[in-house]
Amino acid sequence: MQFYCESLTEYKRLSTKEVKIGELLLGNFHPIRVQTMTTTDTMDTLGTVEQSIRCIEAGAELVRITAPSKKEAENLLNIKNELRRRGYNTPLVADIHFTPNAAEIAARIVEKVRVNPGNYVDKKKFELIEYSDADYAEEIERIVERFTPLVKICKEYGTAMRIGTNHGSLSDRIMSRYGDTPVGMVESAMEFLRIARFEHYHNIVLSMKSSNPQVMVQAYRLLIKTMFDEFGECYPLHLGVTEAGDGEDGRIKSAIGIGSLLEDGLGDTIRVSLTEDPELEIPVCKDIVKRYGNRQLSNEKEQLNIPAVDKIPYNPFEYKRRETFAVNNIGEHHVPVVIADLSKLQAITPKDLQSVGYTYNEVTDKWTIADIAADYIFTGHNILNFALPGTLKVIVYPATWLLAEDKAKYFPIFDDMGYAKSEFKSNKLNFVMIDCFNDGANDLGYPDSFANDVSVVLCVSSTNKNAMQSVRRMFIELMNRNIKNPVVLIVDSNWQTADEHLIHYATEAGALFLDGLGDGICLGMTLTSYNEQVTRSRNVSGRNYLPSHSVEQFINNTAFSILQATRTRISKTEYISCPSCGRTLFDLQETTAKIRAVTNHLKGVKIAIMGCIVNGPGEMADADFGYVGSGPGKITLYKGKEIVKRNVPSEIAVEELINLLKENDVWIEQQVLTN
Ligand code: SF4
Repeated sequence: MQFYCESLTEYKRLSTKEVKIGELLLGNFHPIRVQTMTTTDTMDTLGTVEQSIRCIEAGAELVRITAPSKKEAENLLNIKNELRRRGYNTPLVADIHFTPNAAEIAARIVEKVRVNPGNYVDKKKFELIEYSDADYAEEIERIVERFTPLVKICKEYGTAMRIGTNHGSLSDRIMSRYGDTPVGMVESAMEFLRIARFEHYHNIVLSMKSSNPQVMVQAYRLLIKTMFDEFGECYPLHLGVTEAGDGEDGRIKSAIGIGSLLEDGLGDTIRVSLTEDPELEIPVCKDIVKRYGNRQLSNEKEQLNIPAVDKIPYNPFEYKRRETFAVNNIGEHHVPVVIADLSKLQAITPKDLQSVGYTYNEVTDKWTIADIAADYIFTGHNILNFALPGTLKVIVYPATWLLAEDKAKYFPIFDDMGYAKSEFKSNKLNFVMIDCFNDGANDLGYPDSFANDVSVVLCVSSTNKNAMQSVRRMFIELMNRNIKNPVVLIVDSNWQTADEHLIHYATEAGALFLDGLGDGICLGMTLTSYNEQVTRSRNVSGRNYLPSHSVEQFINNTAFSILQATRTRISKTEYISCPSCGRTLFDLQETTAKIRAVTNHLKGVKIAIMGCIVNGPGEMADADFGYVGSGPGKITLYKGKEIVKRNVPSEIAVEELINLLKENDVWIEQQVLTN
């Protein structure tokens, strides 16, 4: 395999082995399957059956249920029997952590077991140990001994298996040798996969989950490459971002991680982990998957040729931002800028700027600037008739720019030929639009006249069906030609629902930011979609159709969330909250909302909210602080991986978390910044 996928310039699914899970076929070009996991107590047979049915009726093709010990594993039989009795034959998956004996029972009952190679045999003590090669080999021998019986049972019963690595729960052995890196994640799965292959057992699916989409995407790519290099073939891939959280942020994080891989044809089944009821995950999965339904067909029919590439000029297994020079505050070491498109508003008033982070107070004549305030606004043909707040700048069409008096605040945007021909240009900053389908990577003939022009920022979009690939192809061309102009990614959406728009923006822009490509973002909607959103928000009585006050606000929030999720610009608190499962010890949705309400002004602080002490501490990855259920009504608080307050009564746990934040000097009182 030349890269980590079949093609970088057209949509081609990766060829994987076929796996049978009950009657469900997965991999080998079968449709991308969608799945979820129950959150009920596995000993609550009826509760679990009923929740499973809600998931199945929403469209889940696989339902996972936790089996923390032998008794829950045994109860899977009652759950399965009741589901079958009610006419539901959807395959069930047992989720196993730490308990081989539960796995061995479950593998005889359900159609698939999920094991976590980080904790199947190893107990996690967060210890760094020096392993000699002999010590390491001895440890592997121990895994062979403990894991082989499960493989044999799965073989005998025709049960499938997922070897599911989580970034946050790598074993001490892997951490000591490889660190918590994509390489460590891949090796963790490969140790188990080699054992299964030795037993000629191949009914296997693999996953490489992380709450950080950057790490997750790199790990899957590396896994594919490693499997091909070692075995010459690839097992099906289950894609997911762990502990993605809830609401828009959870959807955006998931779509960036999962969507970036699906864009490259990677992935055979997906789960979107949201801190919401599990049946609500399924429509999101479906919205992600449906983008690829006709993609391959379109390639063939429409001949959407994007010139092939022989070599990737960046490392797809490691993050490094593309080298650029700075134009004004765009490119080089500046965080990616956000451009808000206000051109569809009839007349722009100070009040309209509230949607993009600037609130005007008439009494004090001052602006309040939010952490997620856009850096530039695009107003088309409009010059604003009021003084602009702070550092906000305006982008307008060239003819309008000529009329603008304040050339330090107003900048022109040209189409590519327009810039080449124009007699009037800003000597500081000019935006130049390129549609990759027409003038960019499609024929690679876009003008050289602005290449390395130190006043030019490229604004790149594509009308190609494979838009992300076409824009990426242009980046490759820029890098090959040593063109270092900063690039703003322009993504327009013509989808209908809020989730569809979120997924579209997150996938198209997120996939590029994850590879270090992009110095700014400008999201928009086609006029039809925009008008539809505005009409719908008026028609749905008292409730906006979008989860925001206006289309502009929705888009601005989404742009900042994409940058946050790709970790290219941190502008708010980061929440790592588990989706909950049968092990959960408190109401995760309610608690997450409570914690979010009091901490959402702590820019850059990572707070994990985890349902149980068994997996929570391991899974909360690189969180700065952890709020973890440690018993009924009891919460244990962490600073990094270290316990700082044990078994705090849940009634005062949020307050104690605030005290902990204060003790560590990361707490600030809610305040507003004014210019
Ligand atoms: S951390 Fe959350 S999802 Fe994971 S096992 Fe514990 S309760 Fe379940």
